[in-house]
Amino acid sequence: MNSTEFYPCPICSTLVKYFTRYPRAVCNNCYGKASDAQGRKLSFFNTSMSGGFEAIVTETQERHQSHICYINGVKCWADEARFGGIVIEAMIDDDLANH
Ligand SMILES: [Zn+2]
Repeated sequence: MNSTEFYPCPICSTLVKYFTRYPRAVCNNCYGKASDAQGRKLSFFNTSMSGGFEAIVTETQERHQSHICYINGVKCWADEARFGGIVIEAMIDDDLANH
């Protein structure tokens, strides 16, 4: 049995598939909203077929020298995913003394 579990996206509460490795990954919709601290939209890429991580400012193609991004004001961390592609996780626990 391969039961699929779902959990609410840490940003918008949409139910998304749960991956043990990425317990706080955001949903696709939020992924598309990732911006830098100035609110400029970011795009993420793998730098090669085997992975790697690169982020650019979508509009200017300027290199974004950080893994940190913001979605709806929530600080997030973007990185290459183990099986290719990019995953963005909310940094809620690490960053905010929330309750
Ligand atoms: Zn979401």
